[in-house]
Amino acid sequence: MKLSAYGKTDTGLLRSNNEDSFFVDEQLGLFIVADGMGGHAAGEVASSMAIDVVRERLEPLLDDQRSVEEVSLVLTNAVSHANRSITQAATENSRWAGMGTTLTILLFHSEQALLAHVGDSRLYRWRNATLEQLSDDHSLIAEQLRRGIINKLDAETSNLRNVLLQAVGISEELDICRKVLPSESGDTFLLCSDGLTGMLADQQISAILGNNDLPQQACEQLITAALAAGGKDNVTAVLVTAQ
Ligand code: CA
Repeated sequence: MKLSAYGKTDTGLLRSNNEDSFFVDEQLGLFIVADGMGGHAAGEVASSMAIDVVRERLEPLLDDQRSVEEVSLVLTNAVSHANRSITQAATENSRWAGMGTTLTILLFHSEQALLAHVGDSRLYRWRNATLEQLSDDHSLIAEQLRRGIINKLDAETSNLRNVLLQAVGISEELDICRKVLPSESGDTFLLCSDGLTGMLADQQISAILGNNDLPQQACEQLITAALAAGGKDNVTAVLVTAQ
């Protein structure tokens, strides 16, 4: 399966620094978006540290001989390791106290797409002109929506939208969202931070993906549209097309 990918991040129009990080490696088949949080630029430290740890843990263990189950376990362990590394760094350096990050990882192995995810960044799949969110949001609002405590309109307008139920580096035990997704030729995957989904509705994202076949074009248009809609947060998008 040949992968073609492009990633881009932008600080946005209101923030002074960019706490999002991303990683794109078509050869490894590894794609990551992380959205950091914490004062004194600690969010940037957390999101980039999460990506570095995951990449370092995964790279030596990715070979074609491994089963999907083995690779899925390796991936989960890498996320847990990132969690411990960030927690420890925050304990040892008071400037980084309380830092954490979302982490959304897509890894291709044996014609399958493996997802490991914590937080409210998202993975979407664009297939047959239909956009589907494949990751669960680990946010208070999403949980209340799932339980029927609030409705969709309440969720969209709530001022609690940024409250996360878990994050890498903050939660002692992580309930990692894991999925193995059969990948088809023509599938496009979008990994993004909430700076994109907070500014653009799914219909707007669909319209851009429908009008742009190439990952770079689609990615740049998504970022441009999020900025045009207000750019209130750091915004990151990674597009991956399987051929
Ligand atoms: Ca964010």
